[in-house]
Amino acid sequence: MHKFLAALLGAILVYSFPVNASELSDSVNADYEEYLAGLFDHFHRNPELSLVEFKTAERMAAELRDAGFDVTEGVGGTGVVAMMENGSGPLVMMRADMDGLPVEEKSGLPNASRAKQIDPITGNEVFVMHACGHDVHITSLVGTARQMAARKDEWSGTLMLIVQPAEERVIGARNMRDDNIWERFGTPDYALAFHVGAGAPAGKIDAPEGASYAGADTVDIIVHGVGAHGASPHRGKDPIVIGSQIVVALQTLVSRELPPRSAGVVTVGSFHSGTKHNIISDRAHLQLTVRNTNEETRKILLDGIERIAVNIGRAAGLPEDKLPEVTVSQESVPPTVNDANLARRLKIAWSEAMGEDALYEEPPSGMGAEDFPLFTADPHITSVYWGIGGTPQEDLDAEEAGGPMVASHHSPLFKISPEPSVKAGVESTVVALLELMGD
Ligand SMILES: [Zn+2]
Ligand SMILES: [Zn+2]
Repeated sequence: MHKFLAALLGAILVYSFPVNASELSDSVNADYEEYLAGLFDHFHRNPELSLVEFKTAERMAAELRDAGFDVTEGVGGTGVVAMMENGSGPLVMMRADMDGLPVEEKSGLPNASRAKQIDPITGNEVFVMHACGHDVHITSLVGTARQMAARKDEWSGTLMLIVQPAEERVIGARNMRDDNIWERFGTPDYALAFHVGAGAPAGKIDAPEGASYAGADTVDIIVHGVGAHGASPHRGKDPIVIGSQIVVALQTLVSRELPPRSAGVVTVGSFHSGTKHNIISDRAHLQLTVRNTNEETRKILLDGIERIAVNIGRAAGLPEDKLPEVTVSQESVPPTVNDANLARRLKIAWSEAMGEDALYEEPPSGMGAEDFPLFTADPHITSVYWGIGGTPQEDLDAEEAGGPMVASHHSPLFKISPEPSVKAGVESTVVALLELMGD
């Protein structure tokens, strides 16, 4: 059906029903066939690394402008903000992240990426892949923009679409905030985002009523030792032994100090010290990632790391001015915590519009982090971050039955079924926006 006619028909149908479910599905399906499938293919073949998403940003800006939005580019680097004012009502923000990863795609898909780019971190040329599915997010954002523009008579308020750079390095949201995004465009009343997930059935929606992603802190511990000959340990203070004791003692934080129903992770991901077999070094460097789902857990873990590191230094007889130094990086991310009431409200709206079986529920098992809460934590913005499954149910069943493993995010074999994911991405977003801004 012609888009205009579809919109007109939609408007008539909507006169009696707030969101006409099948009309919306039909319209999203038609736009996928006609337009979004090709757009996804383009993004999938042309991924770009964090902070250097120049062509992706340019294309997104053009798409959102074509859809009728007022578009500002270069917000916090390559970020794009697209605004549509449509009378009085709430300001609602929807965010999609757009970066790819330095991974060589080995999915075997006909549209597998062969793109290469200079990695801004290493300066080396690397293969780039949309190995986290952010191509689904940006394609869906364009689909959402087109739907919302065609349905302006069904909602009122201001819609803010955010195309965010560098989520994979957890700095894009911060960069956009540092570029005064709220001061320039307004502080949203509600903030929304979704992530496509390889571990969940394609097209299904999962919206936890609490933390959907963990908070993450990056911690460095420098252990100062006293260097000596390896044959004369009594002349030194061995930072490898002290560091090892710290690593082992840190394991008790989660097992003995956190309440057993609180989730936390303390991982020592790197331990560097020494140069040669027979030299006792004077320094060890430990690098940690620390995960939590709330502020109390975070405090227990971070305070505990400091207490353990410093006091093991004392126990080893290090002088007070040479105790281990613990630094918590400024680049921490709070947990992504959904507003329970809004999550419930959206789940009702989704099941009414998309059917009871559109929803899917699985308690999160990992402690992955996201930088979305840098938009929502301070000042607090009521938000929901939902998941959309990206893997055919038969592939998940095959894995369950001992068959081939479904490739995880960031794997060279990662693949998402774009059609059900993008369609559900657009439909769930439009339903959520109409729920918040519908007449
Ligand atoms: Zn990722
Ligand atoms: Zn991701």
